[in-house]
Amino acid sequence: MTTPVRDLPLLFLGEGSDPASERGVDCPGDLPPASDPDLVERARAAKAALGDQVFILGHHYQRDEVIQFADVTGDSFKLAREAAARPQAPYIVFCGVHFMAESADILTAAHQKVILPDLAAGCSMADMATFDQVEECWEALEDAGIADDVVPVTYMNSSADIKAFVGRHGGTVCTSSNAKRALDWAYGKGKKVLFLPDQHLGRNTAVLEMGLSLDDCVVYNPHRPDGGLSRKELREARMILWRGHCSVHGRFSKESVDEVRARVPGVNVLVHPECRHEVVLGADRVGSTEYIIKTLDAAPPGSSWAVGTELNLVRRLANAHPDKNVMFLDKAVCFCSTMNRIDLPHLVRSLETLAAGEVVNRIEVDAETARHARAALDQMLALP
Ligand code: SF4
Repeated sequence: MTTPVRDLPLLFLGEGSDPASERGVDCPGDLPPASDPDLVERARAAKAALGDQVFILGHHYQRDEVIQFADVTGDSFKLAREAAARPQAPYIVFCGVHFMAESADILTAAHQKVILPDLAAGCSMADMATFDQVEECWEALEDAGIADDVVPVTYMNSSADIKAFVGRHGGTVCTSSNAKRALDWAYGKGKKVLFLPDQHLGRNTAVLEMGLSLDDCVVYNPHRPDGGLSRKELREARMILWRGHCSVHGRFSKESVDEVRARVPGVNVLVHPECRHEVVLGADRVGSTEYIIKTLDAAPPGSSWAVGTELNLVRRLANAHPDKNVMFLDKAVCFCSTMNRIDLPHLVRSLETLAAGEVVNRIEVDAETARHARAALDQMLALP
């Protein structure tokens, strides 16, 4: 079969609208001006007025001005579970990106409403795997006669549609903390894995933790016919990696690692597994956001750390550990631009509209999609 070449479904900074995009919309509506000196007080007052009615989740990559109002901080999966553990709160304000709010909606009770303060806060990685593209990929695997041998595994950083696809095909969701356990389970069930949408997490886990070789891995490019792979390549592969990546972590390079080692004697290089394979190979330690936080908490005073992850988090960690030398791995500024869309004006609008009895920017996953996505999420929770 052939796959038509198509444009990337990305929108820059929420401009315009694209129904194939993970977020799919821009974010219209009146916002308080960013220059309003009372924004902090307004957020505080609206939150106080809502009391237990609202629970605010703050992803680690959010700005400090937003994090200060979070009831809990964490990675996307921890936050979704925290929301589900508070059924008494009818409103969940998710300061993160769109796929995270979808997961929270899937995992919370029916009466809880999940609000994303800026609808244009998507994730470029999640946008790199659309439902139609993944369906076409599966057809290519069927045409190659291998679909029955393939277990799909999707990273948490994917749309509800993709999680539902994986659930329908007997696969699982994974996080950067449990990717090895997810792959152990998948290879116990099938001969091959289709790993969505982050090729780097898939490759780093398969090669560095599962003992596969780089030759066992192929990359499926959704913008090329049949993913740019021959049937022979598909049949021989053990790991079929989707050609997606994080636009933040993908910017770190082996040169960044070499440069910081030359500049800071004795530095420890600590990176997230969404970084490219050569960056992970050059690092001293690799692990999820929670692992990075715990590693720096446990690090001895005076030690030096070059951290390869999102800049808001690295800055916060540097401030939290003044007795350690915590620095960003790359000189180039590296915020996640879509995470950064959630700012104080958007948060104030969400809280004030809720306090006035109006729900703005609710994220709701349809029941059928939620049912299948939930199956893939539940499979992750049941991983041995
Ligand atoms: S940091 Fe990367 S994976 Fe996370 S939301 Fe931003 S683009 Fe997506």
